[in-house]
Order: sequence, then structure tokens, then C-alpha cells
Amino acid sequence: MKVFSVAGYHHTGKTTVSVELIKELRKRGFKVTSIKDIHNEDFTMEKKGSNSWKHAQASGDTVIARGISETYQIWNRQLSLNEMLSHLKSDYVVVEGMRSVALPRIICATDEEQLEELVDGTVFAISGKYSDEHDKYKNLKVFKSKDQIKELTDLVIGKVFPVLPLPKFECCGECGMNCREMVSGILAGRNIREDCKTDRNLDIKIKIAGKDINIVPYVQNTLKDIIKAYVKNLKGYRKGDSIDIKIRE
Ligand code: SF4
Repeated sequence: MKVFSVAGYHHTGKTTVSVELIKELRKRGFKVTSIKDIHNEDFTMEKKGSNSWKHAQASGDTVIARGISETYQIWNRQLSLNEMLSHLKSDYVVVEGMRSVALPRIICATDEEQLEELVDGTVFAISGKYSDEHDKYKNLKVFKSKDQIKELTDLVIGKVFPVLPLPKFECCGECGMNCREMVSGILAGRNIREDCKTDRNLDIKIKIAGKDINIVPYVQNTLKDIIKAYVKNLKGYRKGDSIDIKIRE
């Protein structure tokens, strides 16, 4: 799954750019999901006092509301990006917002002051209101969200790669850098996606509730050694056989 972010301050044109990109990617046959990060503390999907709001309050966990033309699920907490992605099956995920995650990013801005603050190696294009009067910022091309959406979509397809495991900001460091540096390295052509070592399939696979879990190589190796140390003493074990373990709570 390929994931990128359209980030920037409020009222810089992020939603217009996100929506146009979603439409253009869909036109090209891709399955696209969007995630909108909302910073309003009072935001709620439900109207206070409605029946489904009462369900959500009572459950304290997950509520599914089914209407005639829509069904949606509410979690009574903020999910991490990884948790959200684990529920999706798309070719592309467009994330509007989430400035600090390790994703390739398009920055929307109104002026150079904002760009000075927000642009780093994880940025591969500029758009939003800044494009009204500019077509370049340093070595980055600036795209108009309506007239140049095809060109910007071409760039997305050329630049965005399968999402990194996205651990915490400090990351695992197994590749000798952090995830944001890896994103920058891949965009600049210094690295390739396979340089990320954490989701490389080593000799152990762990699923929780049916979903594959990314674990740093050190932990994978430790678990493998511990499990093998126990299992090799069991009757029926033969060197080289695969071992499957299921734990139910
Ligand atoms: S190995 Fe992968 S997950 Fe770990 S720091 Fe490097 S890029 Fe990030």
C-alpha cells in the first residue's frame, strides 16, 4: 500500500489538492482511501444526544452505525496511523495532515515563510495557494491543484513507494537512520525501499488477530531463538521443519 501526505497550515488549499488527487488517481483505476486528520478538540462524528451517540457513549469501544446509503464505524479514541492503515486495502492512501509522520509529502502553503518552516527532504512537491503566483520553490516544482493535477498525479505515481512500517518518531534505527531520513533518502534516490530492514521478512512471522505484525529484526531473532530452544526438545521436532504457534486469550 502506498501512502503519502498532503500537509500544511489551515486555509492553504490542502483539501482541494487532496480531493483532486483522489479523483485523478481513481480515474486511473487505483483504489484510493483518504484519511483526514482533524485538530478540533470538539470534533465528533455524532451529534450529541443522537441514538447512535448514546450507543457510542455506552460502548466505550467500537460502534457501527448503519444507514441506508452509508455505514461507518466509530472508535472511542484516536487511532494511530498504523492502526488505521491495518484496516485498509487500497492502492493509495492520501493523508491530509499529520505533519510529523514518516511519509512522502506534498506541502501546501501560502508563502515562503511557511515553506521555509515545513519543507525538508520528505517533501516531493509544493501546491496549494502558493501555486497562484509561483511555479518553483528552490528545487521543487509547484503545481496548481486544478490545471496541473495530471502532472502532479504522475509525480505521485513516480515517487510514492510502499509505506514504511512507521514506528515511533525515533524508529528502530536498524537501517542506520530514522524513518524520515529513509523517506528523504528514497525520494532523493540515495536509498531504495528495501533498505528498510524492519519489515523485511526474516524467518519468523507474527500475526495478531489475523494481521501481520512488523517487529524489528533484533526482536524477531530473539523470539526465534527462544522458541526454537524450547521446541527442539519436543517429540516430533526435526531440524528444518517450520513451527506454527497459535495463542488464544
Ligand atoms: S529500518 Fe525501517 S523502520 Fe527502522 S528506522 Fe529504518 S526505515 Fe525506519
